[in-house]
Amino acid sequence: SSIMAKSKFEYVRNFETDDTCLRNCYIVVRLDGRNFHKFAEQHNFTKPNDNRALSLMTRSAQSVMEELDDIVIAYGQSDEYSFVFKRSTNWFKRRASKLMTHVASQFSSSYVFYWREYFGEQKLLYPPGFDGRVVLYPSNHNLRDYLSWRQADCHINNLYNTVFWTLVQRGGLSTSQAEDRLKGTLAADKNEILFSEFNINYNNESPLHRKGTTLVWEKTDESTTKKIKLPQEEEKEITVTRTRKKIAALTCDIIGDEFWEEHPDILEN
Ligand code: ATP
Ligand code: ATP
Ligand code: MG
Ligand code: MG
Ligand code: MG
Ligand code: MG
Repeated sequence: SSIMAKSKFEYVRNFETDDTCLRNCYIVVRLDGRNFHKFAEQHNFTKPNDNRALSLMTRSAQSVMEELDDIVIAYGQSDEYSFVFKRSTNWFKRRASKLMTHVASQFSSSYVFYWREYFGEQKLLYPPGFDGRVVLYPSNHNLRDYLSWRQADCHINNLYNTVFWTLVQRGGLSTSQAEDRLKGTLAADKNEILFSEFNINYNNESPLHRKGTTLVWEKTDESTTKKIKLPQEEEKEITVTRTRKKIAALTCDIIGDEFWEEHPDILEN
C-alpha cells in the first residue's frame, strides 16, 4: 500500500501479465461444477433433475449478481452458470483474472453458505469447487448466439436425460439397456418414445428443466406515502415513488427475439 516504502523486491510485480479484456466486448464468465457427476451421486440428487440443486445454483448466482458490479444477465442449467458483464464495464479495469476469480469465489462460498436452506438434512460431505473461464463477445449477435448455445445444450441434455430416466424408472430398463436403446436416436425419436410408450408430452415438462434459468434485473416502482408539513400550511400526504432494482428468475426461451424485445436494456449498441 501507499504508506509503505518501495522495497527492492517491488520489481517482481512486473512479472504480472496484462489480462485486460478488450474494450467494447461483452465479458462472459462461465462456471462449471467440478466433478458434479460424482457430487450428484454422493449427495443423492434426484434424477434426472434435482430441484434443490438447481435452486441452490440460482441462489448462488443471485448472490454473484448482487455482490459484484455490472452483471446484466446470467444463465444457468445443470452445474453451470454464465454471467455477462455489460460491454462498457470498467470494473477492476476489465482484468479477466479479477472478474473470473471474484465470480467463482462468490459463487462457491454462496453455494456452501446456502446449502442447508435447500438441502436440509442432506449433509454437505466435502467442499465443492467450480472452474471458471472468460470469453469475450464483440457483438450483440455473438452474445445472443452464446446464450442460445447454452440454452440449446440444456434442451438437448434434458431431453436425453428425461427419456433415459423414464426408461429406467418407469420402463424397467437397466441403465445400460436404456443407453443402448437411445444410441443413434434423434430428438423426434426421443419425443416419440416418451409420447407413445409413457404418454408424456415433452413440451409439458417443467420449463425450469427444459429452458434453464435466466436472471435479469427488473425495475419495480415502490410507492410510499409521507406526511409533510410546510410552514404556514396544512399537513398533507404525498406519495413518493422510488425505483428499485431486483433480480427476477425466468424460465423462458432466450433464443427467439421476444425475450430481447421485452428486455431492451441488456444489450448495448
Ligand atoms: P480489496 O478488496 O481491494 O482487496 P481489502 O479491504 O481486502 O480490499 P487489502 O489490501 O487486501 O484490502 O487488505 C486486507 C485488510 O484486511 C487489511 O488491511 C486488514 O485491515 C484486514 N485483515 C486481513 N486479515 C487480517 C487479520 N488476520 N487480522 C486483522 N486484520 C486483517
Ligand atoms: P467436470 O468436472 O468436467 O465438469 P462433471 O462431472 O461436473 O465433470 P458435467 O459435464 O459438468 O460433468 O456434468 C454435470 C453432471 O452433474 C451432470 O451430468 C449430472 O450428472 C450432474 N448434475 C448437475 N446438476 C444436477 C441436477 N440439478 N440434478 C441432477 N444431476 C445434476
Ligand atoms: Mg464438463
Ligand atoms: Mg461439471
Ligand atoms: Mg456441466
Ligand atoms: Mg483484500
